[in-house]
Amino acid sequence: MKRTLPLWMSKSGKNQICSALPNLTLPNTCKLIYSHDANDCSILCDELQSSLAPSSVIGFDVEWPVSYIKGKRDITATIQICPNKKQCFVFQVSKMGMIPSPLKKLIESSEIKKTGVNVIGDMWKLHHDFNIFPDQSLMSQSYIELSHFASRTINSSQGWSLRRLCQYFLKSDLSKENNIRLGDWAQFPLSEDQLYYAALDAYASLLVYESILNWKPAQFS
Ligand code: ZN
Repeated sequence: MKRTLPLWMSKSGKNQICSALPNLTLPNTCKLIYSHDANDCSILCDELQSSLAPSSVIGFDVEWPVSYIKGKRDITATIQICPNKKQCFVFQVSKMGMIPSPLKKLIESSEIKKTGVNVIGDMWKLHHDFNIFPDQSLMSQSYIELSHFASRTINSSQGWSLRRLCQYFLKSDLSKENNIRLGDWAQFPLSEDQLYYAALDAYASLLVYESILNWKPAQFS
């Protein structure tokens, strides 16, 4: 049996702004760490890898500049990782010109699962841009696709965006301003608004994952 979505999430309201919901924000207790230097990134990722317990799940997202030239796709600019509610990393790999090996190791790890909406697409993009997962068969063990996890949990086959997941599971709205979303992610330094937007996507992914994990169907009955 398919679950019926609450009325405010009905099809007619698909792209409707849920003004009744509060915006999701990064709490002051969550530190945003911006890293654009390969050495600095390596140290942070080594520390992170050793601090994470096996089978940890971390919020994950990537951004790249939108190219207006047909068939052209720009290289990944940032990789965002949110390991817990206290810190969120934004690694500007386009500035580093490469992926430092500790970051590559973290992404390729099957012990530490990356979660996000369309994380599958992100992994393929990283494979294409930086040869992450030279052995593609190992890719699927490294992530949890958040949209599939949501659909399985509430037995719904609808298409999920991160924003809709936030609305459904967190009762929060995720602001998606086009001037930031479609901005220049390769510029240096990134603006505060870009950093906040990028970090919030990874943070939201982690929060939604945890919310689904603790989901009790009775919440909506
Ligand atoms: Zn994003």
